Amino acid sequence: KLHNIVEETKGNIRVFCRCRPLSKDETSSGYKCAVDFDGAKDGDIAIVNGGAAKKTFKFDRVYMPTDNQADVYADASPLVTSVLDGYNVCIFAYGQTGTGKTFTMEGTERNRGVNYRTLEELFKIAEERKETVTYSISVSVLEVYNEQIRDLLASSRSSKKLEIKQASEGSHHVPGIVEAKVENIKEVWDVLQAGSNARAVGSNNVNEHSSRSHCMLCIMVRAENLMNGECTRNLAGSERLAKTDVQGERLKEAQNINRSLSALGDVISALATKNSHIPYRNSKLTHLLQDSLGGDSKALMFVQISPSNNDVSETLSSLNFASRVR
Ligand code: ADP
Repeated sequence: KLHNIVEETKGNIRVFCRCRPLSKDETSSGYKCAVDFDGAKDGDIAIVNGGAAKKTFKFDRVYMPTDNQADVYADASPLVTSVLDGYNVCIFAYGQTGTGKTFTMEGTERNRGVNYRTLEELFKIAEERKETVTYSISVSVLEVYNEQIRDLLASSRSSKKLEIKQASEGSHHVPGIVEAKVENIKEVWDVLQAGSNARAVGSNNVNEHSSRSHCMLCIMVRAENLMNGECTRNLAGSERLAKTDVQGERLKEAQNINRSLSALGDVISALATKNSHIPYRNSKLTHLLQDSLGGDSKALMFVQISPSNNDVSETLSSLNFASRVR
C-alpha cells in the first residue's frame, strides 16, 4: 500500500505524523488528549482546541499512541531500501521538544527506532544478495549546533573546524569526518549509542543544547556488483530536529541561534512549490542535506506531536508547517 502512496505523492517529501502517548505527569496533572484519531487510517488527524472548531490535517500516514516502532518502520521500509537502488534517502523528525523525535529515530534499547531498524534491514538484504553484490556500509554521526559541525564519532574532541565540501561530481562531503565501517548488525547499536552519548558532552545545559542542535546519522552504502564490477555509493541520512520552544522576545534570539531550522523550512517550502531556486546554502543543515533533499532523492519527515490539550498551540504550529510540505 505504501508503494502506491510513494508513487502518488507529487513532491518527493512524504510526511508521517506520529503522536506520543499522554505521559504519567500529564495524566496526573489532569491534561486530556486533544487529538481525534477517527480518520487516522486514511491519514487524517484532527485537533480539538477548546471550544473552537476542530482543525483537520491530512498526511501520508498518521500514527496513534498505540502504534509501535515496528508499525512505524514497516511504512518507512520501502523508502529505506530504495537506497539500494541508488537513491539518496533522507528521513528526519520534526516537532516540539518532548514529542518523541529521539524515540522515533533512535528509540530505546527495548524499542529500537528507525535508525537501527534501517541498518538491520540493509544488512539483511546485503546477506541475501551476497552472491551477486558486495555491500559495504559505514556510518557517520554529526551534530549541527550554532552553525558548527561536530563529529560525534571522533575519539577526542578535536578543535578542527569541519566544513562542507562539494566533490567534482557534485556530491557534498565533510572531509575529515569519521566514517565508521560497520560489518554486521551486532556492532550497530553501540556505535549509534556512542554518537548519541557524545551529543551532550561538554554542554552545561543538556536540555538547552538538545533543543537547539540537530543530530544527523549518515549511512553510506557502497555496492560492488560482482557480475560487472560496477560500484555505486549512496547516502542515506536521518536526523533529529528539535524545535525550540520559545515565544515573544526569545523567539528572535532562537531564530538566530537556530538558523538551520528556519532554513530547512525555507528549503522544504521551495521544494514543495517547485521553486527554481532552492536556498540550500543558507545554513549548515540544509547544505549538508542538499544531496538527500533535492534532485530525485526521497525524503520522509516525521512530524511528532503531543496529545495534550496543554500543547495545542505548539501542535497546531507543527502540523501547519508539516502540511505545507506535502
Ligand atoms: P524529543 O526527542 O522530541 O524531545 P523524546 O523522544 O525524548 O522527545 O520523547 C519524550 C519522552 O516521551 C521520552 O521519555 C520517550 O521515551 C517518550 N515517548 C515518545 N514517543 C513515545 C511513544 N510513541 N511511545 C512511548 N513513549 C514515547
